Amino acid sequence: MIEQPAGIPVWVDESRCKACDICVSYCPAGVLGMKEDVHAVQGMMIEVVHPESCIGCRDCELHCPDFAIYVAEKGFKFAKVTPEAKERAAAVKANHFRKLK
Ligand code: SF4
Ligand code: SF4
Repeated sequence: MIEQPAGIPVWVDESRCKACDICVSYCPAGVLGMKEDVHAVQGMMIEVVHPESCIGCRDCELHCPDFAIYVAEKGFKFAKVTPEAKERAAAVKANHFRKLK
């Protein structure tokens, strides 16, 4: 596990990510999305696009098959889910898990 960057609720170890989209499919708050990355095996890489919207549910961390994504401990001040965040989550899923432009 890589160390938590200061003040960040969710972070990734890109060297482990296989771009499977699973974490994006579970995130209820539209925090995550896939970005293009020509250096990655699949040509895609996970990105924490909206860390300020993370509600700390841990669904990403619990379902990542490669232990590539981490969520801050319970004491962290996470966001509350908002209608806007829910809408963004739905839009990202409809966009084949790719981050929105
Ligand atoms: S902890 Fe929950 S809200 Fe935060 S990025 Fe992971 S799945 Fe999304
Ligand atoms: S679930 Fe894990 S391996 Fe899959 S895209 Fe997310 S961080 Fe990468």
